[in-house]
Amino acid sequence: MPELPEVETIRRGLIPRLVGCTIKRVVLSNRRLRLPVPRAKLKGWVQGSQVQSVDRRAKYLLVNMKSGAVLVLHLGMTGRLAFFTNGAPRRPHDHLRFLLDSGMELRFNDVRRFGSIQVLAPEDREPPKIFAGLGAEPLGPDFSTPYLMKMARNRTKPIKNFLMDAKVVVGIGNIYANEILFVAGIKPTRAVRTMGRATWDRVVEATRQVLDKAIACGGTTISDYVNSSGEAGYFQCELKVYGRGGERCQSCGSEISRVVLSGRASFFCPACQK
Ligand SMILES: [Zn+2]
Repeated sequence: MPELPEVETIRRGLIPRLVGCTIKRVVLSNRRLRLPVPRAKLKGWVQGSQVQSVDRRAKYLLVNMKSGAVLVLHLGMTGRLAFFTNGAPRRPHDHLRFLLDSGMELRFNDVRRFGSIQVLAPEDREPPKIFAGLGAEPLGPDFSTPYLMKMARNRTKPIKNFLMDAKVVVGIGNIYANEILFVAGIKPTRAVRTMGRATWDRVVEATRQVLDKAIACGGTTISDYVNSSGEAGYFQCELKVYGRGGERCQSCGSEISRVVLSGRASFFCPACQK
């Protein structure tokens, strides 16, 4: 499943090829995705309109149209976006094709169909339910030590589960939670209520550092992730602890431990992480 850095990488890849283009036609496969595809809204608000900007909230891509509508894309487990020249042969599992006036088309391909396409029309623009209750953006200004201390008050969770809670902070999955805690020098099992200000500062800093590095690498390789130019996105950033149980820590040479926390594999260096 693509994590936040992958989605951010895709967003950045979409901008130069999509912003300023008019979507001349939307072609649908008529297969149901995780949610029904909103045919009438796609035809009414997206087809014939120009793309103004591409934003992201959590793992949703938000394509802002000149019509005032917002096209909301979620890649689910196996969703991919790729550009092709107009009329290139259709591939299996191409569910949506956005034909652009640039001579290109953007395709949404999804083998398992857990992805979703929604259109927020200007007429129904009360804050959409999908964004209700979401926590801070880890790369945004709200993700700070005071915010985390407030959210952690009276909580007994381990820090790793806390970081993976979308009500606290969005888009941090298992791989990045492990990597962030290694960089911050904090054991994944440590209870959040035992953490002081300086420790939270390290969490904030490590989160930005790990996610920025992953974005710079083009996102971590996960299953069949493909970046928005349609190339396989296999520029893997080196992971320091994730998947390295039993190997030597790159900082101190100790053996990396593996424990299962809330059913998820958790890796840490027992010497570097307290
Ligand atoms: Zn170590």
